[in-house]
Amino acid sequence: MLDPRQARALAQLMSDTTEQVLWQGWQQAGGYHLTRLTCRPGRGRATYHRHDPGAHHHEIVYGTHMVADKADPGHCAGWLSTREIRQRGYWQGEVSMLNLLAHTCCHEFAHLQQSLTGVRRRGQVHTPRFYQLLDDLHQCGAADTVRDTLFELARARQLPLSATPHTLPAEPRERLAAYAPGDAVLFGQAPDVRTGQVIRVNRKTCTVMGTGRHRGLRFRVPPGLLWHQEAG
Ligand SMILES: [Zn+2]
Repeated sequence: MLDPRQARALAQLMSDTTEQVLWQGWQQAGGYHLTRLTCRPGRGRATYHRHDPGAHHHEIVYGTHMVADKADPGHCAGWLSTREIRQRGYWQGEVSMLNLLAHTCCHEFAHLQQSLTGVRRRGQVHTPRFYQLLDDLHQCGAADTVRDTLFELARARQLPLSATPHTLPAEPRERLAAYAPGDAVLFGQAPDVRTGQVIRVNRKTCTVMGTGRHRGLRFRVPPGLLWHQEAG
């Protein structure tokens, strides 16, 4: 298990790698020289990209609790990154702590690219265009470079960052242990994926209060249709 200091140090490595590998690589390829990107660790689970259009300033935050979840086979299954690696076959669908953290850097960076290169509608960020950007980061080799860089940096600093595949929990009750009231989640099935906030964890489901288009509605969602969102 990770202690909080290690989780924060790994979130810092993710921040450094996003700036130095993904952002600088994109800048060199003829990117956005007036735009500034800051990446940093956050305190809780929340992991997101946001920007201030007027100031051309973008920020990516990697939650330290998110890092701890992804080190834990029982908790990582609840994250969107886990679903993406498995369903889209990134790294042959292998879910490990290393692959999850590397993929999370790519996921947030794809949100940055999405906001710089096209139109986004609020509440609708995991679009076909977003997945095209994410696929490109994997296909062009950038995701591999992120993974190798994270691995080397963690080893140099003696931080635990395992490449051993996780065995994911099969039982709903085990998977529900990954959620707590207040968590921001995605739920449902494509193409009707909704956003919400967990208000209660039940024996076999979570009660989720819808946000965005479904604000004010309550849903009981089984863990197989529920993910922590890495927001854009
Ligand atoms: Zn996202």
